[in-house]
Amino acid sequence: MSRILVIDDEPHLRTLIQKFLLLDDHEVDLAEDGNKGLKLIEGNSYDLVITDIVMPEKDGLEVVMELKQLFPNIRIIVISGGGERLNIQDLLKMARLMGADRVMSKPLDFIKLQSAVREVLAMQS
Ligand SMILES: [Mg+2]
Repeated sequence: MSRILVIDDEPHLRTLIQKFLLLDDHEVDLAEDGNKGLKLIEGNSYDLVITDIVMPEKDGLEVVMELKQLFPNIRIIVISGGGERLNIQDLLKMARLMGADRVMSKPLDFIKLQSAVREVLAMQS
């Protein structure tokens, strides 16, 4: 069992990801934007953060940047459906360059997400 934080501003998707991760017996917390996510990260010890990119307040790329500086051992999976100015592939490429362990485009393939979660959690041990 691992501790996972899911940050996404879409409530429906956030809950779906949580339900899916609970099937693998993980402990899952949720946050609706980068600011709230980083606050939770400071007070907890997560193994993995799954974050969306385009969100109000603080976006996912900023979350990745701060995470890499403050908690370099936390694994990161970035998910995105693209934004108004940048397409999905450019955003995911940026997330990769900033240090995300895996990047995935929306709509999410939950089986692929499950594999990615298993892979990155295995990297840590
Ligand atoms: Mg979003």
